[in-house]
Amino acid sequence: WGRLGQRLKKTKDKIGGSIDRITLGKKIDEDTLDELEEVLVTADLGVQTSLKLIEQLRGKVARKELDDAEALKKALAKGITEVLSEVPPAPERDNNPHVIMVVGVNGVGKTTSIGKLANFFQRQGRSVLLAAGDTFRAAANEQLTIWCERVGCDIVGGQEGADPSAVAYDAVEAAVTRGHDLVLIDTAGRLHTKVNLMEELKKIHRVLGKKLPGAPHEVILVVDATTGQNALQQAKLFNQVVPLTGLILTKLDGTAKGGVVVAISGEMKLPICFVGLGEGMEDLRPFEAEGFAEAIF
Ligand code: GDP
Repeated sequence: WGRLGQRLKKTKDKIGGSIDRITLGKKIDEDTLDELEEVLVTADLGVQTSLKLIEQLRGKVARKELDDAEALKKALAKGITEVLSEVPPAPERDNNPHVIMVVGVNGVGKTTSIGKLANFFQRQGRSVLLAAGDTFRAAANEQLTIWCERVGCDIVGGQEGADPSAVAYDAVEAAVTRGHDLVLIDTAGRLHTKVNLMEELKKIHRVLGKKLPGAPHEVILVVDATTGQNALQQAKLFNQVVPLTGLILTKLDGTAKGGVVVAISGEMKLPICFVGLGEGMEDLRPFEAEGFAEAIF
């Protein structure tokens, strides 16, 4: 994460840079905290989480324990690390096979993230099977097949218009027969037919549980960090439909809205499993709370 800090530069400029600006040539007092609250909210940390972080700093400011920008940043980084750590851990990936359902709205980087995830696990020496469960878009299947070839993993595809839960069912069956360690299930993300989509996701979830008790072991929502608070709204919406176990935040490179990581984790009490820091195959990293909190100051 030390090396990755550069990719979070825009978020760093927004948060760390604003703190430098509001503390320049001033002593740190109640007024600074008011300004800091505004900085955090506009940096997409969410109102609720920003208030909580400010409250934690208030006592320290009153006791004059924070006398410059660096001390303030350090205390804030600690508070943010705590928010990011007060979540349940992502489930152990030791089921056989371990089934991960991946959900999210079109365009957030879901297909790319599934490809990167497959690469990540294959590199750990675990064999991955992809399930092309977005049977609504022919392009989704094709794109996933390309990733599959690049990564060197197996795929179970669905004909366009096929029942996605049947694809998911077949994939788990194939994984058991062929001895794969992990199944990554892509799902549709067409939000314009919201009710249908939500029913479809529920059905996939239900069918997987019938096929393999305990499955899906993870439901990971992919959200686009550049959409800021919309990402938080999507997390709330999807969590009402299928019980999310964690998130992937994509496109953290090149956005100043990286603070949304803290908002989502703080409000939803869900772990950020991975973050996308670029378009390449290796640009998906397991999230580290402390590394992230240090990188944005
Ligand atoms: P989907 O519709 O959700 O499946 O989205 P795609 O996976 O097709 O991705 C949409 C676009 O976002 C593509 O151009 C990806 O290369 C790009 N993308 C995905 N993840 C990242 C990321 O972490 N960083 C950057 N910079 N681009 C990304």
